[in-house]
Amino acid sequence: MKVRTDRIKEMAAAAAADQGLHQTLLAAAGRFRQLRQGGVAAFDDLEKARDQGRRVKERCLAELDRLLPRLEKQVRAAGGRVHWARDAAAARAIILGLARARGVKRVVKGKSMMSEEVGLNQALEQDGLEVFETDLGEYIVQLAQESPSHILAPAIHKNKQEIAALFADKLGVDYTDDPEELTRIARRVLRQKFLQADMGITGGNFAIAESGTLALFENEGNIRMSTTLPRLHVALIGIEKVVETYRDFDVLRKLLTISATGQKLSTYLSLITGPRRDGELEGPDEFHLVLLDNGRSRILADPLLRQSLYCLRCGACLNVCPVYQCIGGHSYGWVYSGPIGCLLNTQLLPRGQGGPAPFACTLCGACAAVCPVKIDHPKVMLHLRWLMAEDPAWPLPRPPAARLGLSLYAWLATRPAGFRSASALARLLAPIAAPGGKARLTPPAISRWGRTRRLPRWQRPFSQRWPGLRRRLGNREEPS
Ligand code: SF4
Ligand code: SF4
Repeated sequence: MKVRTDRIKEMAAAAAADQGLHQTLLAAAGRFRQLRQGGVAAFDDLEKARDQGRRVKERCLAELDRLLPRLEKQVRAAGGRVHWARDAAAARAIILGLARARGVKRVVKGKSMMSEEVGLNQALEQDGLEVFETDLGEYIVQLAQESPSHILAPAIHKNKQEIAALFADKLGVDYTDDPEELTRIARRVLRQKFLQADMGITGGNFAIAESGTLALFENEGNIRMSTTLPRLHVALIGIEKVVETYRDFDVLRKLLTISATGQKLSTYLSLITGPRRDGELEGPDEFHLVLLDNGRSRILADPLLRQSLYCLRCGACLNVCPVYQCIGGHSYGWVYSGPIGCLLNTQLLPRGQGGPAPFACTLCGACAAVCPVKIDHPKVMLHLRWLMAEDPAWPLPRPPAARLGLSLYAWLATRPAGFRSASALARLLAPIAAPGGKARLTPPAISRWGRTRRLPRWQRPFSQRWPGLRRRLGNREEPS
């Protein structure tokens, strides 16, 4: 997927001005919040369950060096094959190699953010393969030649009228904005693709090391079809998806589905251990598991940043984030969006390419309050900001005017006499620069900011007000 993180500000400004997008996002996020709210009652003690989930992820990630080889051994014992991909290019090469060697022409795909991360569709299509997304939301964004804008609901940015017009245009069907009819149309088209496909590609929610089992949750049945009808099934997952045991899996699966859609269990749960065995009626002849690193080992090495890898991809943090609901998923400029997108895009992309996403956050903490594995997004966000500001390895693109202004301020703020003189001068000039509190002389770099704001009345510096404040405070009784 094309990286557009250098355009986050422009894209966010355009999205923020789009009233239609706001209404669509607010309505959809509100529905997801209601579903989650209804579902969490299923936990006797939600906080305890979240703590348990967090501990499972902490332990499994701390023991990846032991769990990944165990997973490989079990997948092989079940008749599957495991491939290790250091980065996106390696993952693409492995999957293309498998397709070429078997003369694959048509591919059906289950929803997979991982395949967006490595740019798989483009690579397969460039090689002459036909690729069909089969999750309804993914199918819609593929038809529209767009990218997903939400981890769970890829087409959340589109209303039913837009989808109806898209289907009429691309599929040549009569216009209808009845959601059930639109779903029937997509099902009719995709059924043929399932029957013709030579290869099914999916992601995976968890990989259970003790048995070599891949777990996939879904509500549409398209993943079940993608993993059973084609003769070849390839699953692409990040190395952080491994858990040790079924018991670990059981802790996380309920947290995932309830946080995502309020369901105790999704409509379909596929547990895949190797390819079809002798005597079994369904399943592929070959099962391949591609384990992708793509920067995850680097994230894992940092004790604070590693919690970004605990993510279950439930989408709950996006549904409560005021920034996401204002600017939508595409404004984040790469695969992941919302609170977790701010963390992952910045860390998974090469240093310096992540853009200013960690700054697109008010630090309100709503995301951390709903995260089923207690990721502390604001804390990680602040740490990333600090790294970007202080560590030359994390270059932050800043306009020269802002850099000059901040350097000047830093110089002045560390010289008390100069700071006092500058404050006194600013107080004298304030009525001329901003008569009646109306900001007029804002420098070009912040002029748009200034156009929409009034300067507050200039106050006496705190250092001058403090002696009086201290006297007044000193007269008050200390609270016991
Ligand atoms: S802390 Fe930041 S990312 Fe999290 S919900 Fe608030 S604005 Fe969004
Ligand atoms: S960060 Fe937490 S809330 Fe957000 S998608 Fe991941 S698991 Fe869900």
